[in-house]
Amino acid sequence: YVAKRRRVGVAVYDEARDGEGRHRLELAQQLREGIARGELVLHYQPKLGLDSDRVVGVEALARWAHPQRGLLYPDAFIDVAESSGLMGDLTLAVLDGALAQCRAWRDDGQVLSMAVNVSPSNLVDDRFPEEVDERLAAHGLPASALVLEVTESLLMEDRERAVSVLGRLRAAGVGIAIDDYGTGYSSLAYLAELPVTELKLDRSFVGSMTDSPRNSAIVTSTLQLSRALGLVLVAEGAEDQATVDALVELGCDQVQGYHLSRPLPADGVLPWLAGRRVESVQVGN
Ligand code: C2E
Ligand code: MG
Ligand code: MG
Ligand code: MG
Repeated sequence: YVAKRRRVGVAVYDEARDGEGRHRLELAQQLREGIARGELVLHYQPKLGLDSDRVVGVEALARWAHPQRGLLYPDAFIDVAESSGLMGDLTLAVLDGALAQCRAWRDDGQVLSMAVNVSPSNLVDDRFPEEVDERLAAHGLPASALVLEVTESLLMEDRERAVSVLGRLRAAGVGIAIDDYGTGYSSLAYLAELPVTELKLDRSFVGSMTDSPRNSAIVTSTLQLSRALGLVLVAEGAEDQATVDALVELGCDQVQGYHLSRPLPADGVLPWLAGRRVESVQVGN
């Protein structure tokens, strides 16, 4: 059947496929309405500075409170958002929610930086830097309060435009992180031309570094690279104390991972911060 289908290409009717297509269309429609109705919920995962032992900020991670299916995780809706043209709206909704929360925490005396994940369509959109600026201003936040996380694969699409959009964001003072660093293509080429401020080394290297000399070597050499380029190195996916200890030993800058904290609902963040020290040296307010 597979061979036959290959031979005649897309002309073969595939009932399962068709059902899937209908399902995606329906999901996209629900997501469009859901975003407009405010069904996106943000969880926040803290980042810890290893030299200071202070919390430096949080990353906003989107969940969708689907009216029938309950709380959905990004793997259930990010692809759909991207393929159905909803990513611009989704990112702006996440930015708005995350910056409002960041403002509220500052008003409570906790100066946390906020990281927001962005997608390919944001980076090829010439209006995106202004939209970010507008939202920072609307919430009374300095650009230095925000870090945008981009993945390497994402930068493949329209490289020139992505470089220009990121350049404008960086010039405004927004931090730029390469997310899942080490899993994409041409990492080094990007580093040479992108206005990046931090690398987030993918958890596939970090998680197993204490058992794997190879992964440990990758962490070490990425750290050297970060140093040489003046970038902050964040290790993602540290799940135990041994990994955190190894990262401290190597001199890694920051860590994120289940061992420190899973992503927390908004109202879980201040209680989690109680008794911890927060890095409040960012400029502005
Ligand atoms: P990411 O930005 O690399 O986020 C980290 C993901 O790894 C999160 O999953 C987090 O819960 C998980 N994680 C953190 N620490 C650990 C750990 O120690 N061990 C393990 N096994 N996992 C850990 P989540 O929240 O399901 O997000 C998955 C991805 O979805 C994110 O990866 C990001 O690429 C995407 N995403 C999430 N929110 C947004 C958003 O608002 N916009 C866009 N464009 N993408 C988003
Ligand atoms: Mg991220
Ligand atoms: Mg990541
Ligand atoms: Mg990841």
